Amino acid sequence: MYQDKTIICKDCGNEFVFTAGEQEFYAEKGFENEPTRCKECRIARKNNGREKRELHTAVCAECGGEAKVPFIPRDDRPVYCSECFSKKNEL
Ligand SMILES: [Zn+2]
Ligand SMILES: [Zn+2]
Repeated sequence: MYQDKTIICKDCGNEFVFTAGEQEFYAEKGFENEPTRCKECRIARKNNGREKRELHTAVCAECGGEAKVPFIPRDDRPVYCSECFSKKNEL
């Protein structure tokens, strides 16, 4: 069966344990790669990814106010501020 395994984290260089239980879980899920990062670094990377989602400022096509959107606004597509957007969805 599986045995606890010590792996060096790729990001912080700390050792972490890839436990027998986790190995079993990975095998069940069909993951072929062992984890390369400790839990802390994995969580940190996840959070970074979320924060990196840049917001672009555009002019709301409805009220002319400032609209923040997670995509690059294009001229041929109207952009709405969150207020107008939710109003439109209510209709
Ligand atoms: Zn780490
Ligand atoms: Zn608006």
